[in-house]
Amino acid sequence: MLVHDIMRPSSPTIGLVSLGCPKALVDSERILTRLVAEGYTISPTYQGAHVVIVNTCGFLDSARAESLDAIGEALAENGRVIVTGCLGADPDAIRETHPRVLAITGPQQYEQVVQAVHEAVAPPHDPYTSLVPPQGIHLTPRHTAYLKISEGCDNRCSFCLIPALRGDLVSRPAGEVLAEAERLAQAGVKELVVISQDTSAYGRDIGHGASPWRDALVPARLTDLAAALGSLGVWVRLMYIYPYPAVDDLLPLMAEGKVLPYLDIPFQHASPSVLRAMRRPAAQDKVLDRLASWRAQCPDLTVRSTFIVGFPGETEADFQALLDWLAEARLDRVGCFKFEAVAGVPASTYPDPVPPEVAEERWHRLMAQQQAISHERLAAKVGRVMPVLIDTVDETGAVGRSSADAPEIDGTVILPGVHGYAAGDLIKVRIQKARDYDLIATPITPPARPTARERLQASRAPRRR
Ligand code: SF4
Repeated sequence: MLVHDIMRPSSPTIGLVSLGCPKALVDSERILTRLVAEGYTISPTYQGAHVVIVNTCGFLDSARAESLDAIGEALAENGRVIVTGCLGADPDAIRETHPRVLAITGPQQYEQVVQAVHEAVAPPHDPYTSLVPPQGIHLTPRHTAYLKISEGCDNRCSFCLIPALRGDLVSRPAGEVLAEAERLAQAGVKELVVISQDTSAYGRDIGHGASPWRDALVPARLTDLAAALGSLGVWVRLMYIYPYPAVDDLLPLMAEGKVLPYLDIPFQHASPSVLRAMRRPAAQDKVLDRLASWRAQCPDLTVRSTFIVGFPGETEADFQALLDWLAEARLDRVGCFKFEAVAGVPASTYPDPVPPEVAEERWHRLMAQQQAISHERLAAKVGRVMPVLIDTVDETGAVGRSSADAPEIDGTVILPGVHGYAAGDLIKVRIQKARDYDLIATPITPPARPTARERLQASRAPRRR
């Protein structure tokens, strides 16, 4: 994605290609906010930019290859390229393929990226071009914003490169996060998507110490932060929850409507031996009991998770245990990855690798089983009334999301042939039909604006003299 925003051709201009996960997108936003604050403008094209920043992903080999391709494209199209992000932690691999890049910085090295941009194209001197909206520059639709609460991770899952790339957990003070959230809400954001590498660990590194916000002190603890965010009157969606027991404390907030009834918990597997080899919590039987209790407390709860198949040593019995667990858990949404032996993670050296064709076959079996479950859970929503946040509108109708749909990850709620709404409207709809991933609905909330037909009729109506 070549990010574009505003064009002011007289000032030094940068292009930015943002790859990877929402966390990387937040890093891109921070870099752009800083550079626009200094008076740089952003080019929607390679040709219009004095220099292009490529924010890379280095999590899996496939993401590394995509990042290297993106760097090559930016070099071919523009020639002046600064690389940052996760792949920047491995500068040798980048220089080997692309020796012409101007500079390489690693993840979260905002100062170094900005410094590299200064060296490539000097910042303007006029301080009056340094104005930037107080809520910063955002790359998501105006009504949805990611809110990063911490960086890094203290866990050491054996398949994961993140702690090596991004280091141990570093949490932002709650007051700082809340001040940013408040600015975003005041700027028209209707949905805050809370992200980090490990959201439920928030504040552990700083002893859950409290910091001031409004007239109170708010502890750096997820339940306290979520409750305070819930007071802002916008949707609050929590992503990347590690399956700690403390997850249970979030359910009352969901049942009360303070945060969206949506849990994104990467369970990764269900076989205790595979989970132990992954260095993850291995009591999946208890998780089934907890799922039942969560759903009893909050019947609207949506549970999303991700799993890895083909992990070294995964036997057919382990895989069957995963299928059986999924059949019982009946999760709403499931993502599945085939294990990739990424250089630098312990699991890549484990014995008994699963042959790629076996991993492939297991992936298909898991997805086929889960697709039927997800479809049944979606079909159970037909006839229900629910709130939907409108994301896009065009001549064919409107498309939005319910509390069950995280942006760019889950499905949508489609309102065909519907007009008079705008992106960012929060409306009530009735679900009419379920597809594999999306729902079809009709609006209940009347449109706040005249539809095209009403405008046409009004323009044709005879005028009284
Ligand atoms: S909790 Fe997530 S980010 Fe942390 S090591 Fe495990 S998989 Fe990686």
